[in-house]
Amino acid sequence: MPEFSVGKEVLSHCNKCKLPLAHIIVVMKDTMTIGKVKCKTCNAIHAYKDPSKATSRRGRKKGSTTKKSADVKDVWLEAMNKATTKSQLYSTKSKFSKGDIIDHPSFGPGVIDGLLDNNKIIVIFRHDTKTLIHNKA
Ligand SMILES: [Zn+2]
Repeated sequence: MPEFSVGKEVLSHCNKCKLPLAHIIVVMKDTMTIGKVKCKTCNAIHAYKDPSKATSRRGRKKGSTTKKSADVKDVWLEAMNKATTKSQLYSTKSKFSKGDIIDHPSFGPGVIDGLLDNNKIIVIFRHDTKTLIHNKA
């Protein structure tokens, strides 16, 4: 068994960082039980949490959203929040510019991330980024 004492470093799960990180022991409950720890990363003082017990939460996360789609969603959300224009119904005949919000019949609302060639737009949708045709004569 490792020995614990105030001022020593210990690996604890941090509630703020949501990671098992190095913490400094601040309070001992008794000689074998850690009371409170201070996170070396965010400096938060909180109750000691055994990182091996916290890992069970990781299993619950599995099978939800993949990392890729979560990232696209973040970009989409940020772009939607930044947009100042009203959404326009998507049509291949319409002409769009960067930053425009479009409403696509199948993909839903999207933000134009950029223009490609003369008649293509790169659009960020909630779940994916797509290249679509616009400005079609
Ligand atoms: Zn922390």
